[in-house]
Amino acid sequence: MRPIPRKGVVPLFLFCQVKKGYDPFFGVVGRRSGPTRTSDHLPLVAVAIGSNLGDRESHMAFARSRLRAMLGSIRASSFYETTPEGVEGEQPAFLNAAVIGETQLSARDLLDALLAIEADRGRERPFARAPRTLDLDLVLFGDQIIDEPGLTVPHPRFRERRFVLEPLAEIAPDLRDPASHKSIAELLDELTRSTPDHEALRR
Ligand code: ADP
Ligand code: MG
Repeated sequence: MRPIPRKGVVPLFLFCQVKKGYDPFFGVVGRRSGPTRTSDHLPLVAVAIGSNLGDRESHMAFARSRLRAMLGSIRASSFYETTPEGVEGEQPAFLNAAVIGETQLSARDLLDALLAIEADRGRERPFARAPRTLDLDLVLFGDQIIDEPGLTVPHPRFRERRFVLEPLAEIAPDLRDPASHKSIAELLDELTRSTPDHEALRR
């Protein structure tokens, strides 16, 4: 006697596994990498990184790797060399970059974590706009608008800063500023039109 083929059992099993997020052939599916990501509703944040003191490449790489461990689905821009703007006296050129990623932290806790990364690279503040080993600015925190002592988001000066907008446009041109409702690409375009003699950033 031949066994009765149990039609539908295998396809149903596969369907259930794939629905649960596990593909029996390819492993976990439908999940983006990153330790902090658990749902599709985490805020997407943008962080600007800068360094113009000491071993700039190493400070930048350190910040990027710490952010990679902290944020989900991270995207990081290239490093750009930029001439210091609005700083005290003569200063060495900056390296600048931007990253975006998802977080489960509050904006306040994320900013504290960014300041701790700066401190790990010996960041000092002898005077405003002094040269810095590492500067991490919280540019955007999802669509939140926050204005509290010690925490302003979106970052109040990011729309005038080519060294923030250009790296950010490389990785997230469609990300929107919740205050002006403009995309990063639009803000960069406006800045370029209003400062036609600007110095180009060097990757
Ligand atoms: P800057 O980056 O403008 O040269 P600092 O890095 O010294 O200045 O930052 C000064 C303070 O600004 C930080 O200690 C922090 O508490 C505060 N701050 C407020 N909002 C933000 C933000 N969105 N990103 C980074 N720092 C912020
Ligand atoms: Mg800063």
